[in-house]
Amino acid sequence: MTTKISIPAKAVLENRSIMFDLASPSRCSRCDAANARQFESHPLKYEAGMIGVRQFTRKYRYNIKIRVRLPLCETCYRANFIENSNTCGLDPNPLGKTAHWMSIGITAGSLVACLSFILLMKVIPLPSTIPWIQSLWSILIGLALLIFVIVFGVTELINRKLRLSLNELGYNAQLHRADIYVKMQLEDPQPEDEAVVINMQNDGWAEECAYNHGWVFEKIESKSENLEAK
Ligand SMILES: [Zn+2]
Repeated sequence: MTTKISIPAKAVLENRSIMFDLASPSRCSRCDAANARQFESHPLKYEAGMIGVRQFTRKYRYNIKIRVRLPLCETCYRANFIENSNTCGLDPNPLGKTAHWMSIGITAGSLVACLSFILLMKVIPLPSTIPWIQSLWSILIGLALLIFVIVFGVTELINRKLRLSLNELGYNAQLHRADIYVKMQLEDPQPEDEAVVINMQNDGWAEECAYNHGWVFEKIESKSENLEAK
């Protein structure tokens, strides 16, 4: 079974910090381990109350960035890093710092590749007095590729090491990240409108969390369970 928690708009609008920590119950939200000092982060953008439509964009009266965070134990945090290291970049721990540098590496590689493309396609006029400048594109594309190879190579090495440690600990591979999303709405939000939805497999933790915060929850059948039943 999967448990769905509905977080109302008032909880999002009253939140004074970008961090939206579901710290109660304080045990691991995946395996129920008592010691849960790490977090599973979900960066989201809540939009409601549309005030204008442009050709390519829409403007909302309520445009709030939040990071919903669920408590994790050290072991589940390692599995979380393998699943989605992009969301770990702000975490104050060694894996979080690695994720941060990986993100910087990908950004740097993308910028260098973009610069190479600009030179190759002559997007901007180049000075005719230094004709060799255009030939720099091949060096830059090589540099971008080198950066990507290093970043993805290091990531794969770290993930391999983490997978080995999880296997040794007998980690339950069925435990995954929660599915969390926001519900965008065109009208201004009413306090009880559903704003954030959390679908997670740990029914006991989810029910307790919803109860502690006074939020609505319900048990739903997941698609995989439906397929198994058929
Ligand atoms: Zn855990």
